[in-house]
Amino acid sequence: MTKMSRYILVCLLLLTWSSVVFAAQPALVQISTIDALLGGMYDGVTTIGDLKQHGDLGIGTFDGLDGEMVVVDGQVFRVPADGHVMPVSDNETTPFASVTRFAPTRHLSLEQGTDLAAFTAQMDKIMGSPNLFCAFKVEGLFKHVRTRSVPKQNKPYPPLVEVVKHQPVFEMDNVRGVLVGFYCPPFVKGVNVPGYHLHFLSADQQQGGHVLAFDVEQATVALQPLHRFTLLLPQGGDFSTMDLERDRGAELEKVEK
Ligand SMILES: [Zn+2]
Repeated sequence: MTKMSRYILVCLLLLTWSSVVFAAQPALVQISTIDALLGGMYDGVTTIGDLKQHGDLGIGTFDGLDGEMVVVDGQVFRVPADGHVMPVSDNETTPFASVTRFAPTRHLSLEQGTDLAAFTAQMDKIMGSPNLFCAFKVEGLFKHVRTRSVPKQNKPYPPLVEVVKHQPVFEMDNVRGVLVGFYCPPFVKGVNVPGYHLHFLSADQQQGGHVLAFDVEQATVALQPLHRFTLLLPQGGDFSTMDLERDRGAELEKVEK
């Protein structure tokens, strides 16, 4: 083998190695940005079939803001404003979603009485760094879960902060189910939701929504830190023409809580 061909071989091996290493790292894959959603970009831009190619656990919404999305074990569910949870077909679309291929690296049980504040404080400590992403799946029996959904919108779409003034809230007592979602670092402001964002699906797949509060009876949490973040920007809807310059931090605060 000549010196040159040996050099090329080493380069090729390094290239292969690095692509294998990076491809193996799980990513949070996101469709569109939170500020686009806050601004009323509710047109579905990615099919549920395509979204499922990127992950099997996650959260989001649907075309026209038609309910809350919960992705559990590769199945996609809609929690609509009327509360009747339904599985979603692959040809429906989403304007905003975050998913990952969930392969948890840590499991622990939560103490009875753990609420949302106690959960986030405990996870803050376990994650160790506020600067990475993390995926969560909390499974078990809950003394109480409070969720909300959003009603389907028609054009011209109002901003999200207007929509949530009329959001239905669901209260569930002694309910078995799963919370799924993500922690996102502060630097995603404008792109995703900094902090914790969880959606709920009951074990009987009849109830769920965007989580506002919960209280654990007996549950375990599985988590997976994520070092990669893939943002897929819409090629359709109003994304390319809308004003994404203004700070919607105050609106996000009202919308999430
Ligand atoms: Zn949500």
